[in-house]
Amino acid sequence: MNEASIATLKAKIDAASRILIVSHLRPDGDAVGSLLGLGLFLQGMGKDVNMVLEDGVPTIFHHLEGSDQIYKEPIGIYDLMIVLDCSDISRVGDVLDEYGRPDVNIDHHPTNTFFAHLNIVDPKAVATAEMLVDLLAVFNTPLTQEIAASLLTGIIMDTLGFRTSNITPKALRMAAALQEAGADLPTLYRKALIQRSYEALQYWGAGLSKMERDGRLIWTTLSLEDRHKIGYPGRDDADLVNVLSSVEDMDICVIFIEQSDGTVKVSWRAKLGFDVSAVAIQFEGGGHKPAAGATIQGQLDSVKEDVLKATRKLL
Ligand code: 5GP
Ligand code: MN
Repeated sequence: MNEASIATLKAKIDAASRILIVSHLRPDGDAVGSLLGLGLFLQGMGKDVNMVLEDGVPTIFHHLEGSDQIYKEPIGIYDLMIVLDCSDISRVGDVLDEYGRPDVNIDHHPTNTFFAHLNIVDPKAVATAEMLVDLLAVFNTPLTQEIAASLLTGIIMDTLGFRTSNITPKALRMAAALQEAGADLPTLYRKALIQRSYEALQYWGAGLSKMERDGRLIWTTLSLEDRHKIGYPGRDDADLVNVLSSVEDMDICVIFIEQSDGTVKVSWRAKLGFDVSAVAIQFEGGGHKPAAGATIQGQLDSVKEDVLKATRKLL
């Protein structure tokens, strides 16, 4: 992040009174945590802030202060529109369709398409939340406990609890500072990564029972029927892909989640040395080298066949 873009962001924030902040579909801890961290901070500065997630807030993040203030669509006009943790504009869904090019894009995905007027992109950051801790420091205002908790949730979630290959001493020091600011690390960690609903585990069971492999490539599917039969409320995989990636002799794993709109959500995870974001991009998705995703039009079986064929080329 260069000083000039940080100064430009500060000037834009200082000048704005009504601010919209948006993050991505199927929001994860970095989307929700970054949205709340920035949103609550700007509210503390006296700004009129609207926080928007088209898919709403997953129940596992309802404990975060301010999560009940996140809406599913924007209302009215804004002086400043900020998009967080999105590598391209389609990640926000339809919510900005009538609002034009966003003012600011703050993100850490290497596949970012620089879709806003001001693009602050740092692929070295472990989470967008990490970037926000640095960006907000220019205001010289201490982070409240609620803000620290949200931002720490983003860092915990995107590093899977400080264990992804991109973890840095800087991120660890930042987590310590957020704990010092009052964030309850063990509780936030448990709520973000450990605690699951009974239905989520049944959903894992459905996926695990269909797991397949071809050498060091592992995959499984979650159908709409699985989801409905079990009563799992989300459109996501309940993070089952991270369970698949724990198989000792795998290089790449893929999960296919059938959606009700005729698309399939695909998630890839890979060991160090592979770049699954390159395959995700072929299907108009994106992400990071070891973790990427895409939403692909088509039937579950045909999407699976196409994606596995493209993925095998990496091995
Ligand atoms: P997940 O597979 O857990 O949804 O996401 C893994 C990574 O890929 C995350 O960094 C996420 O932001 C990115 N990602 C997931 N789905 C998409 C997608 O449809 N488009 C793009 N550009 N990135 C995605
Ligand atoms: Mn992120």
